[in-house]
Amino acid sequence: MAKRDYYEVLGVDKNATEEDIKKAYRKLALQYHPDRNPGNKEAEEKFKEATEAYEVLKDPDKKSKYDQFGHVGVGAGAGEGFQGFDFGTFDLGDALRTFMRDFGGGGFEDFDIFGERRATRARRGPSKGEDLQIKLRLSLEEIATGVEKTIKLKRQVRCSACEGTGAERGTSKRTCPTCHGTGEVRKVSRSFFGQSIIVTTCNLCGGSGEVIEKACPVCGGEGRVRGESTINVKVPAGVNTGNYIPLRGAGNYGKRGGPAGDVLVFIEEEEHPYFIRHEDDLIYELAVSFPQVALGTEVEVPTLEGKVNLKIPAGTQSGKLFRLRGKGIPHLHSYGKGDQIVRVLVWIPSSLSSEEKRLLKELAEKSGIKPPKGDKDFFERQRNTLGF
Ligand SMILES: [Zn+2]
Ligand SMILES: [Zn+2]
Repeated sequence: MAKRDYYEVLGVDKNATEEDIKKAYRKLALQYHPDRNPGNKEAEEKFKEATEAYEVLKDPDKKSKYDQFGHVGVGAGAGEGFQGFDFGTFDLGDALRTFMRDFGGGGFEDFDIFGERRATRARRGPSKGEDLQIKLRLSLEEIATGVEKTIKLKRQVRCSACEGTGAERGTSKRTCPTCHGTGEVRKVSRSFFGQSIIVTTCNLCGGSGEVIEKACPVCGGEGRVRGESTINVKVPAGVNTGNYIPLRGAGNYGKRGGPAGDVLVFIEEEEHPYFIRHEDDLIYELAVSFPQVALGTEVEVPTLEGKVNLKIPAGTQSGKLFRLRGKGIPHLHSYGKGDQIVRVLVWIPSSLSSEEKRLLKELAEKSGIKPPKGDKDFFERQRNTLGF
């Protein structure tokens, strides 16, 4: 697939300042961030594309190389590394790390390791395995307490026959004839602007500096095979759909002994039978009869921690909200919890017996039962419960 021009991607021109570039990227990254677009492949591609463009254009050195040579100048065209930066394996994990490094936010910055640049970024040696994404569906109860889950995962694992080297047992490796063991190939490039040296990863040995004499028959020389792993995920209380937990080194094992990629565990909250989550508050809708609210009553209300009694005073209007403090979801990034909000709704019967009809008709004649004309306060309160 042809790459779009980096300036076009970010919507800036060639004279854009570092500040302009940062601003343009931030806007796009927030729009397409996986947290805001869970499961949306198109948004993910846009997020990666913008991040790649940003990585190049924000760096004056890479920017000038790109201005001179285009995508090839920064190694993106051929999928090869330029001065250690490899876009060939630029995946979602890399893009999220870049975003976290420069802007923070988005994931679990409190207890995660996104800020740190990975050592394999300065490429020498076999390349890292691919990152994997998995979905983890959790109930509201699990989210409220935090949970530890064991997940079975299909992934590329180290080939045990060759111990990841890719060479058949008993055969030896030899120094790569193309790069003489350095894992890199240098090309001198001449242009109007002068001479520059482009360093790329050696194609023959994949950067390891060694080639194998005879490929391992089990893995065909890759040093890895399809397998299954069991991983443990600790989910803190208070997560939400779209949050992700990165597990370092739990992804695909790299080819020929390369380090493993990461697993990104994306959280998905299951719908609850009767609680509606609003940020860290829970909304519970309670149907009551007209006599109950007119006379006042006490009802049992479920919470995530068991049932509680709620007093509904006489004269409570339909739509009234009662707040049960601290009965909501724990805050992910701070102490404390949200509340449970009980929304009282008066239930109107739709079929009545003749006896019920007779009693209601009698009641309807009484003066205390009729709404007064132009009760502004009443309408005001009703509107307030709608949230505007
Ligand atoms: Zn093998
Ligand atoms: Zn080589």
